[in-house]
Amino acid sequence: MNPVYVTQPALPPLDEYTQMLEQIWSQKILTNNGPFHQEFEQELCRYLGVEHLSVFSNGTLALMTALQALRIVGEVITTPFSFVATTHSLWWNNIKPVFVDVEPEYFNLDPDRIEAAITPRTTAIMPVHVYGNPCYMERIREIADTYGLKVIYDAAHAFGVRRNGHSVLEYGDMSILSFHATKVFSSIEGGAIVCRSEVMKKRIDHLKNFGFANETTVIEPGINAKMNEFQAAFGLLQLRYVDGYIARRKEIAETYRSGLRDVAGIRCMEDIPGVRHGYPYFPVFVDAAQYGMSRDDLYEKLKQHQIFGRRYFYPLISQFPTYSGLSSARPENLPVAEQAARQVLCLPIFPELSLEKVAEILSIIKS
Ligand SMILES: *Cc1c(COP(=O)(O)O)cnc(C)c1O
Repeated sequence: MNPVYVTQPALPPLDEYTQMLEQIWSQKILTNNGPFHQEFEQELCRYLGVEHLSVFSNGTLALMTALQALRIVGEVITTPFSFVATTHSLWWNNIKPVFVDVEPEYFNLDPDRIEAAITPRTTAIMPVHVYGNPCYMERIREIADTYGLKVIYDAAHAFGVRRNGHSVLEYGDMSILSFHATKVFSSIEGGAIVCRSEVMKKRIDHLKNFGFANETTVIEPGINAKMNEFQAAFGLLQLRYVDGYIARRKEIAETYRSGLRDVAGIRCMEDIPGVRHGYPYFPVFVDAAQYGMSRDDLYEKLKQHQIFGRRYFYPLISQFPTYSGLSSARPENLPVAEQAARQVLCLPIFPELSLEKVAEILSIIKS
């Protein structure tokens, strides 16, 4: 029996990538805003429906650079229910993360709890569109405007997500994407910052290249977060196929949902009306008392059948030693996130996963 992991990268046709490699060989430009890099940025803007975007070597450096570009300092309000990179990007900028609990429907930052966490040192809010479900963006904007805060969305899960015809990336001062191999859309490693103006894009472009504005001018201490031509070419190629990948993911998600509808103690997330989803993960939430088995026992049971789910996000970021000493990290401050972390299990979902395999996974969960 072949092991099935929570995700498996989708590889575009090798012969098409080989042709692109031949172009790189003949042009002899390997990195530094080369032709594939430029085309990739243009095509991403077109696909995503945004105007200003800068690609990065990965999503974490994009997060760190976004904070630098906006000169964020002091304290930033964020969620504990995310991948560690969200909070690490604050730590690397010497910013204190302030954890606020999530809401119980989509497990995104709870807008009702943000104001109580604002102090004179707060400069920004960093929410995450968890599992690609849009945050309460209007509420967050209202709070940010009232208190004069910046908003930086970690949109690593939200590639291609649109609500009422608008990209979620249109919200906030900046949004960050990740194109890591395990995401819906990939450039092997990679990421991007979506920002609001050409001037800001230029500043970000300087920051990701050591701060160089031209041959002899260094505007400030930048970093090296440039995307190379190999990643850009891979991303360009993936972009031609990504709608097909998302359609397959949707089919798998719908098969899981209909199979789990009448299983007591297993909760799935439904599509939101008006939202075009990307289906990066298929999380289920296990109520041990109703289901008759804990989340961890189900996780182990699937493992025995060579099905490797992942507990995204367990442990919470606030439970890691770097952050657990912060007063906002106390479990009693984060009851909804704590419960979600105990109950969540992400089931395998990737374009090549067959519906037969999904049926097999469903029958293990039901048995
Ligand atoms: C994947 C991910 C990141 C990090 O992106 P990399 O490209 O792997 O550096 C950050 N935040 C979230 C929510 C992610 O899922």
